[in-house]
Amino acid sequence: MTLNIGVIGCGMIGRDHARRIQQVLAGAQVVALSDVNAANAESVRKDLAPQARIYETGEALIAAPEVHAVLVTSWGATHEPYVLAAIAAGKPVFCEKPLATTAAGARRIVDAEVAFGRRLVQVGFMRRYDAGYLALKAAVEQHTGAPILVHAAHRNPAVPEAYVTPMAIHDTLIHEIDVFRWLLDDDYVSARVLYPRNSERSHTQLRDPQVVVLETAKGVLIDVEIFVNCHYGYDIQCEVVGEDGTARLPEPMAVDMRLGAKRQSTILTDWKDRFVASYDVELQDFIAAASKGGATGPSSWDGYAAAVTSDACVQAQESEGQSVAIELPARPALYK
Ligand code: NAP
Repeated sequence: MTLNIGVIGCGMIGRDHARRIQQVLAGAQVVALSDVNAANAESVRKDLAPQARIYETGEALIAAPEVHAVLVTSWGATHEPYVLAAIAAGKPVFCEKPLATTAAGARRIVDAEVAFGRRLVQVGFMRRYDAGYLALKAAVEQHTGAPILVHAAHRNPAVPEAYVTPMAIHDTLIHEIDVFRWLLDDDYVSARVLYPRNSERSHTQLRDPQVVVLETAKGVLIDVEIFVNCHYGYDIQCEVVGEDGTARLPEPMAVDMRLGAKRQSTILTDWKDRFVASYDVELQDFIAAASKGGATGPSSWDGYAAAVTSDACVQAQESEGQSVAIELPARPALYK
């Protein structure tokens, strides 16, 4: 069976996911598109999915009988109503991060899915599908002994002028927040944020770099440097220190050159290149589960846990160095 997918939000990532479905992955096709910016939907239809019908609203797309499953790739603040509508229609839905822009919104999605009685939602936390993170998780589980510390860094060469301090949590750290819960099979209990002096490439609305310290229920301490104007490249680092040894996230493949009395290799500058393969794997996983009427991978509960943690981290940013507690209610049986 070919899974018929409707895409809501045909901007940068919606277009890229449509390309994946149409040209790279197996078992699905894009049959419907919707975007408040009609030109974006038309452009995706013309370039990638001529068979797709364009719907004026996301709600109409979700209700369309030919749509078996939904991709929500619109602006973050619009995710919650679309995901709730997909659950109400009983259709599997892949939602790009964030699941919702507030923890209360993410909780409404969890409650709706629990009431429905079966998983329908996959959240776009693609790092769980990255070959490097999967290898790191296997090393931690099989070799290093129980984790004690994690040292990590998330560095971007530059961000737009409109990027301000809380976005370091909501748009940047959000990926670490999810992937470390998964990597350590653990939950967070507190967050602190520490600031060195501001980098010269920063501005008055952006404290950059910053260090987020997360503590987990099992007592692991995680320090994450976020440096979004680091200038030199897009660089994701992670080292886990365990009882018996350490394990480090592999570097992306790069040719090692010896030139002019120097040893050198290229560092990526675009995040899309760093995780391109994991986007393919996550969507293929969605297609497989959605074809059976369900969902797998990062769940609504994971999206909710990330939202609760993000809120605490933003509070910690504002309280400069003070520890902010992170409390999650009991996990519903659907997500155990
Ligand atoms: P984008 O290029 O701005 O595309 C978003 C599209 O959605 C635009 O065409 C926008 O129209 C449209 N839109 C806005 N409100 C809508 C609504 N109510 N209904 C339907 N369409 C609507 O943004 P993007 O970079 O693709 O990001 C989209 C989402 O994906 C964000 O939540 C982002 O955080 C997430 N994302 C995740 C990753 C990842 O690594 N997992 C990477 C990139 C993005 P206008 O042009 O009129 O605004």
